[in-house]
Amino acid sequence: MTDASAVQLSFPQPDIALITFDDPEKGANILSRGVMDQFAAHLDTLSKRTDLVGLVVGSAKPGVFIAGADIREFVSATANTKAQTAATSNRGRELFQRIGQLPFPSVAAINGLCLGGGAELAVWCDRRLMTNDAKSQIGFPEVKLGIFPGWGGTARVPRIVGLGNAVELITSGESIGSLAAVRMGLITDVVPADRLLESAIALVRAETKSGDYRKDRERWHGPIVMSPTEFAFLEATATAVIMQQTKGQYPAPMAALKLMLATSSLDATAASEREAAGVAELFGSPVSQALINVFFLTDRNKKDLGIDNRSVTPRSIKSVGVVGAGIMGSGIAAACLKRELMVSLADARPAALTAGVRTAIEEAAFDKATRGPTTERVLKLAPLMNEIVDEQEFSRCDLVIEAIVENEAIKREFHSRVEALLPATATLASNTSAISIGRLAEGLKRPENFCGIHFFNPVRKMALVEVIRAPQTSDETVATAVAFAKGLGKNPIVVNDGPGFLVNRLLSPYMNETLALLTQGIPIKAVDGAAKAFGMPMGPITLCDVVGLDTSLFAGRVMAEAYPDRFLSSPLMEALVKAGRLGQKSGAGFFVYRDKSGRGDPDPAFDAILAPLITNPQTMDAETLTLRMFLPMVLEATRILQEKKVRDPRDVDLGLIFGVGFPPFKGGLLFWADTIGTPKIVELLKPFESLGERYRPTPLLLELAAAGRRFYDLNTTR
Ligand code: NAD
Repeated sequence: MTDASAVQLSFPQPDIALITFDDPEKGANILSRGVMDQFAAHLDTLSKRTDLVGLVVGSAKPGVFIAGADIREFVSATANTKAQTAATSNRGRELFQRIGQLPFPSVAAINGLCLGGGAELAVWCDRRLMTNDAKSQIGFPEVKLGIFPGWGGTARVPRIVGLGNAVELITSGESIGSLAAVRMGLITDVVPADRLLESAIALVRAETKSGDYRKDRERWHGPIVMSPTEFAFLEATATAVIMQQTKGQYPAPMAALKLMLATSSLDATAASEREAAGVAELFGSPVSQALINVFFLTDRNKKDLGIDNRSVTPRSIKSVGVVGAGIMGSGIAAACLKRELMVSLADARPAALTAGVRTAIEEAAFDKATRGPTTERVLKLAPLMNEIVDEQEFSRCDLVIEAIVENEAIKREFHSRVEALLPATATLASNTSAISIGRLAEGLKRPENFCGIHFFNPVRKMALVEVIRAPQTSDETVATAVAFAKGLGKNPIVVNDGPGFLVNRLLSPYMNETLALLTQGIPIKAVDGAAKAFGMPMGPITLCDVVGLDTSLFAGRVMAEAYPDRFLSSPLMEALVKAGRLGQKSGAGFFVYRDKSGRGDPDPAFDAILAPLITNPQTMDAETLTLRMFLPMVLEATRILQEKKVRDPRDVDLGLIFGVGFPPFKGGLLFWADTIGTPKIVELLKPFESLGERYRPTPLLLELAAAGRRFYDLNTTR
């Protein structure tokens, strides 16, 4: 039940109505059925009034106008028929259309996020004002859920801002700020937040006087006027951009484009009816369900404190020490600076420190618009950065993150030295990729304050952070690391210590199989091609070249040592590293890199290394190749769940999507496995039985399959 006061009607002046969205039960306004009903009731009241000159629609929630439709209601409706979905869509749009049928003008007064259904409500108003607050953003992210706007957005937006702008906004799903929105004509004007209501009332009065809104109501109802040449150009360029971005794996943007083009010659009502029918086609599709799952994965992650004991509170972090100013350290320092934390950076080599400080400040001050650091941002952020000259300075830090060379003895020595300088309440963390956090904790006086905070490279791009918990780590330390990572805008998952942590452990069987396939005579092109067709951002062989073969070899050895029953150190990898072929960075790996473009070409010298290692060459179809690469990953995930390395199967999926770009349109590794079904997975493994332990169904898989249960049924208390 929605609280009866989620949408309020008031009259700031006797002849001006104000509808305010402010759901007392939610942090953000969401257009649930209950909220829509309340809005409809207020429109009923207003349509009977003859003494009003205008309506303002606003929100009392700080930082949010309306965040969109209720996605949980969406999910509960996926079993609906297409006709039911289209009818729901038409009902919502007809409600919003009533705003434009009121006998007086309406203004949406937007302060904060205005997304999806909220943006559709706003565009059905006659005018829109937006505050200049950085949080004020308007956008139509529906394609990110595998659908497109369904309450008239695809009809109304192109009629207001032009077809080209609307295609860009709706097919990209990206939000825009107030200045871009005003330039496009989506927003009438930008005003300061403290003058929003006053400005909206003034705009209502000006519109009542001029009557301009009536002309626009008529104009925006009709077809879109555009020359055939412009139309053909838009169709060709937009199709090319969408194909390049979606690789044909996400149908919604292309469907939205086709719809907007096809309905441009209709009136807005007829176009909206076609929109409703189109949404019904996409709604509930496997891609849409997978993308909605990704939405829930991130939503759940935002609420997850990383521990189950809700009475534990994280320690406050205001000042961060980062040690090691190399690739990772400078990236971590930049991420902290961006969020205006005090950062103290240290490095054993003064030249590395100077370079790291510079990189961190430049990266933190980077401005998308100018594609470089702005002087204003540099001047603001530089004073927050402290170059450590004397280690005593660490005593001021609430958190120290070590990102020095990957060597256990050197890390241990540094940890015990810095721990002695830190206050007892400070947190100490290592960014190690592979060293056991439990072993590192053994040498410390306060091991409970120590954990792994494993960032991914490049830090600025990669949203995943693994918080590694050793048996000695306290709940408070885990909660602190999780809250800190969230504060940097990252998605942290908590992983219990173990070889490869989560992401590298799951990548290992995938890489392992890839190399085995090459020595079975399968060409690189077929292996990489099958992974890309599955949806991976790049093939595993190309990925190896990007990461570096020495790094991959080391990771492979760690796994082979930990789990000799299913991981073998690859003779191919050993041979390539021995030959000095370390990947992109050395100019050759699996491919040869002739210039700086990063594009690798097939290399006969590689073929010569591989040839003697091919025993019993085989051919394989793309489907078998896909199963060979991804089923061992699923099995490894079941072992991770059995060993309780993560607290929920959803952490596995979130980790792979944000850590290695596992295809979001598949919803995550275990979500994908669940769409196949656990009994079917057992069946699919059978032809690979002769390959040994690495394809043998695990006890957990067999148990789920026998009960016909899904991995997602294994969720914990949250
Ligand atoms: P890097 O070589 O770029 O930087 C390491 C820096 O640490 C160097 O500037 C070096 O001078 C400094 N250093 C070494 N020993 C030191 C000491 N005792 N005291 C102070 N400074 C010292 O390395 P990187 O790639 O940034 O990796 C750092 C850590 O992060 C490693 O543990 C690595 O395993 C981990 N990591 C790396 C990646 C990656 O992709 N590069 C990803 C995740 C985690």
